Amino acid sequence: MKKICFIFCGGTVTMKRNEQGALMPFYDADDVLRLVPQLKDLADISVIKLANVDSSNIDPAFWTVLAKTIHEKKDAYDGFVITHGTDTMAYTASAISFALKGLHKPIVFTGAQKPVEDIPSDASHNLINATLVASRYPVGVAIVFGSKILQGNRATKVSESSLDAFDSPMVPPLGEISLEPAIFTRLSASGKVPRKLQAAFDPNVIVVQVAPGLARFHLRSLLKSNVRGIIFKAFGPGNIPDSLIPFLNEAKNQGITIVVLSQCRKGITRMQLYDVGLQALRAGAIPGFDMTVEAAYAKLTWILAQTRNKNVISRLFEKSIAGEVTIYD
Ligand code: ASP
Repeated sequence: MKKICFIFCGGTVTMKRNEQGALMPFYDADDVLRLVPQLKDLADISVIKLANVDSSNIDPAFWTVLAKTIHEKKDAYDGFVITHGTDTMAYTASAISFALKGLHKPIVFTGAQKPVEDIPSDASHNLINATLVASRYPVGVAIVFGSKILQGNRATKVSESSLDAFDSPMVPPLGEISLEPAIFTRLSASGKVPRKLQAAFDPNVIVVQVAPGLARFHLRSLLKSNVRGIIFKAFGPGNIPDSLIPFLNEAKNQGITIVVLSQCRKGITRMQLYDVGLQALRAGAIPGFDMTVEAAYAKLTWILAQTRNKNVISRLFEKSIAGEVTIYD
């Protein structure tokens, strides 16, 4: 039997409705194992209770704790199952993929849309499949949810109610769950884990969605804050209104890193295509290509925690660190 470490972080799986009818954390890891007894037949499971929170409350400091926990235990287990709320699961999965890059051991995130005690609930289905994937396949950091097995740093939450809550719009799934979990992709079973764990994240990054008329005036207060990185979700292939270019220049002069993503669900930045993209590029913006906002946010916070050198920041951001981006010419 494979040795699997369950790390509990909370989420809907362990929630119950309060007096106002709102879901909040209630049950703990032991209750889950009691309510889904089949898990014990699938693997030799140990449990670490790291948190029991709504994932809206998970922050980059928690990513560090989680990465260190997995790193510390990595040789003692064949795989990890991380139970986590769906709202920020793709952010945490992305962050862990950077902090533990090169570790191909399965680190499988899962959760549920309905609490484990609800009838019906997707909790036992997801927990069982996550455990099977973590015991069988060297998927690296993955999200197993509903009928999909997805690369963690390519995944995004696409539905707040469907049992298939996640998708990876820019790359095919690693596999699917039909009768059993099945993997489609060729997985590399070994990689080089850097000796020094880089598990710090600088949370001074914000995400700004560009909308028609977004005023430079509103953004200027950012220049007086300690923000070190801004991710713009720009129009189409990375287009930014002319009126924001002076802001981009000012931000660059202050050492703030600007990243541009496409706000299209299936978007790739191609910033030379239009002059409105090209001028943002000339003003020093770094294209995020086909990265999800979750991956770009986790990546920038991770890079900024390591260096203040702007050439190193751009070089690291523009390359694929953990398979999170396709670099197009
Ligand atoms: N709000 C919940 C959370 O992210 C949603 C979920 O778990 O599905 O913790």
